[in-house]
Amino acid sequence: MLRRVRSPFSKSLAVLTIVAGMCVAIAETAPQAGQTVPSVVTSPPNQTLRVHPMVRRVRTAATPVRTAATCVSVPVLVYHYIRVNPDPLDRLGWGLSVTPADFQQQMDWMRIAGGHPVTLAQLFAAMQGGPPLPPHPVVLTFDDGYADFATAAVPVLLREGFVATDFVVSGFIGRPGYMTAAQVLQVASLGMVIGAHTVHHIDLDAVPPQLAAIEIDASKATLQQLLHRQVLDFAYPYGDVDAVVADTVAAAGFRDAVTMNAGTLQCTASRYLLYRIRVGGWDTVWSFSHNAGLASPPAGWIDPSLLEAFPAARRIR
Ligand SMILES: [Zn+2]
Repeated sequence: MLRRVRSPFSKSLAVLTIVAGMCVAIAETAPQAGQTVPSVVTSPPNQTLRVHPMVRRVRTAATPVRTAATCVSVPVLVYHYIRVNPDPLDRLGWGLSVTPADFQQQMDWMRIAGGHPVTLAQLFAAMQGGPPLPPHPVVLTFDDGYADFATAAVPVLLREGFVATDFVVSGFIGRPGYMTAAQVLQVASLGMVIGAHTVHHIDLDAVPPQLAAIEIDASKATLQQLLHRQVLDFAYPYGDVDAVVADTVAAAGFRDAVTMNAGTLQCTASRYLLYRIRVGGWDTVWSFSHNAGLASPPAGWIDPSLLEAFPAARRIR
């Protein structure tokens, strides 16, 4: 869920983060040949049409840098609904919705263009001297734990061999329109990552710090109890965060947290203020490719898989 108005404080934080990020030295190294996605879900063979190095890292294999100044430019995309927006007059709902046809087209192009979805865990492992990222790394995230993640998104992700993270509102599990506990368990068992998104989707920087801490801690505990695994990724509802909230998320034991601030330069020093790029109802496969750091499809490109799966949806925007 999103609000139309964003906190001005979070915008100032974003500016500060950008400045901080720009102050670190960034060296580049091309991805190594033969790299694969070291995740539960493996990636299909690379069918890259045009390959160009996208990974920017502050270290080389010979001179590993393990300081807090490590940064990497990786798009973290954020989806909400994968559905046909049910109310054409609901512009907010339209903006939050990517149709199943568009989503399949985007994922098909991701594969064809050589994009490799990775997890936030892989991102931080790479920045801290672990396995390097594959070429064209992209982090796919979904917010709120909507049921269509399990029914519409995951089948496509599995077909492509892609991994994604869903930030689940723990108190909304089982409500109409949201994943049930069984669906959360199922998508996790299929290799998807579950992150936390508070218990009640509250605006964390607008409530007393004690309440914010309860929402953050309890959402982590509930999801961990359900999944029997650690939950280390957090997303701020509405993207709203201030310094106190970010510190509270760190103290709760999360590894990282994502905002709704637009950008791609992710740094360990600002691991609780990671940037994301929204994917919404307005996106074409061309704007998606741009945001994902991929080469663009040729003009007029029609996804053959799309025509097979959605014969009625021959309109390519
Ligand atoms: Zn949300």
